Amino acid sequence: MQTCLLRVAGLAVLALLFSGCATPLKPAAQLSTPVLSFAETHRDGLAIAGPYLGDRHTGLTGRTIVVDSIHDIVLRDHEVVLTFDDGPVPGKTASVLDALDAKGVKATFLMVGQMARSYPALVRQVAARGHTIGTHTQDHTNLSKVGLDTALAEIDKGQRSVAAALVPMRAQPAPFFRFPYLADTPALRRTLAGRGTVVIDVDIDSKDYFVSTPDDLNARGLARLEARGSGIILFHDIHARTVAMLPAFLDAIEARGYTVVNLVPGSAGAREMLLSQAGS
Ligand SMILES: [Zn+2]
Repeated sequence: MQTCLLRVAGLAVLALLFSGCATPLKPAAQLSTPVLSFAETHRDGLAIAGPYLGDRHTGLTGRTIVVDSIHDIVLRDHEVVLTFDDGPVPGKTASVLDALDAKGVKATFLMVGQMARSYPALVRQVAARGHTIGTHTQDHTNLSKVGLDTALAEIDKGQRSVAAALVPMRAQPAPFFRFPYLADTPALRRTLAGRGTVVIDVDIDSKDYFVSTPDDLNARGLARLEARGSGIILFHDIHARTVAMLPAFLDAIEARGYTVVNLVPGSAGAREMLLSQAGS
């Protein structure tokens, strides 16, 4: 009963985030190989989700950046980072994963705690398919409108919810965080930096939260990217239009010579694993 009430309350709050999601989805690209291999890394004796460096490679597959701080995220010309906020959600997140797998690229998913509590198996699926999982508060609260203590409690609760979903995998989310509505404050950024949490900022906002056709969304995203030349792109894996546009968007940026950079948490264990996998 309690779980049920929590889920209902959560969905009511998050209903504000969902709009125009009734479009039937096309079948995702068929994969030639299973992608359930999951690699663990360790940080302070605790396992962290990702990185997984197997899988297929295409012209779009880019390098991996090990991130200890925000200053490590330095992209070269024609490099992008794909980020997906607000999920996971049934019927959409898995299709996003299929599109990414088809192109051999990895993304960073900034998950809302309520969603992770409601759909823990999807959290694990994202991790199992080698993507980086960060967090995005428990309730998608605008942290610039609440006090510092309340904001930190929201962040911590979101991290605990995502972490709870990963317990069966003996994994933890990366210490990556994105501010809901991109609404940060200097005090929060300082506090998070002091804790070793890396804020994942946005260079290119796809604005996929506005109602538009997948073609329009694709064209707008490409135009913003071409104008900037590189950057961290914000998508949301809760919208059908984002799912629908993603394969064409990935085709288009591959044709334009871009590569997708994989961000992974920086820790001694992650570095060791990257080195061992690179040499194997
Ligand atoms: Zn969000």
